[in-house]
Amino acid sequence: MADTPTQATTAPASAMTILAHPDDAEFGCGGTLAIWARQGAEITMVVITDGSKGNADRSITPQQLVVMRKEEQDRAARALGVTRVVNLGYEDGVLQPTIALRRDIARVIRKHKPEIVITGDPDSRFGGDFYINHPDHRAAAEAALYGIFPAAGNFNFYPELLAEGLEPHQIKEVWVEEWGGGSTFVDITDAMDAKIAALAEHKSQFDIKDVEEFVRKWSAETGAKYGVGHAESYRKIVLERDRSAEDAAKLVSEEGASELEETPVAAGSGK
Ligand SMILES: [Zn+2]
Repeated sequence: MADTPTQATTAPASAMTILAHPDDAEFGCGGTLAIWARQGAEITMVVITDGSKGNADRSITPQQLVVMRKEEQDRAARALGVTRVVNLGYEDGVLQPTIALRRDIARVIRKHKPEIVITGDPDSRFGGDFYINHPDHRAAAEAALYGIFPAAGNFNFYPELLAEGLEPHQIKEVWVEEWGGGSTFVDITDAMDAKIAALAEHKSQFDIKDVEEFVRKWSAETGAKYGVGHAESYRKIVLERDRSAEDAAKLVSEEGASELEETPVAAGSGK
């Protein structure tokens, strides 16, 4: 964990989650979404796969499961105050971070124009000594990051999106879920009931009675690291800084320095 964690207390005007499965957002950032929704944020939940393999009951066909999980997802989103759910419909369990998936992610970003995107950590392979991270989670996270940069904000990528009327859109910040404790956290103490209520809607996946205890325990453990009751934490990547605030800070730090002392950076460097 970073030395100086920052509590994020102000909701963005708009946010988007880009994750693999119908219950991923609820587990990873459901409290954050509920808090932001209460503050008026427009929230789009992008679910990449159809969830067709998340089941051990052989009497239910994959097609039936897809329908069930969409309904569960919609109810869960309502419990959190999410504005809309977008299902990309990729087959569950075999997700790859393809160029086509990046394009589909760039498309949904350009369409709904979120300020902040929350996604997973493509480098996360294990959870402690008891969990192998689902390959779809890593593939979704990798495609999300590269769909954001460079694809969503650069008109040269996927000209077919321009033809659809979708102009480039720059994301301001990417929040990567950090289960072990990241430098940015949201106090979700007041949203724990909403998070549990949303998870409870995923009835095809688990009985909430079997899950609630450890969800509360994990978020309490994260909260304890920051001195709050319950928390969700993130690695925050700031892609578009507030220039006026930065310029003001720069002026203060460079007070007395002449502009002539600045050394221009050669064009084409920094690749
Ligand atoms: Zn999942």
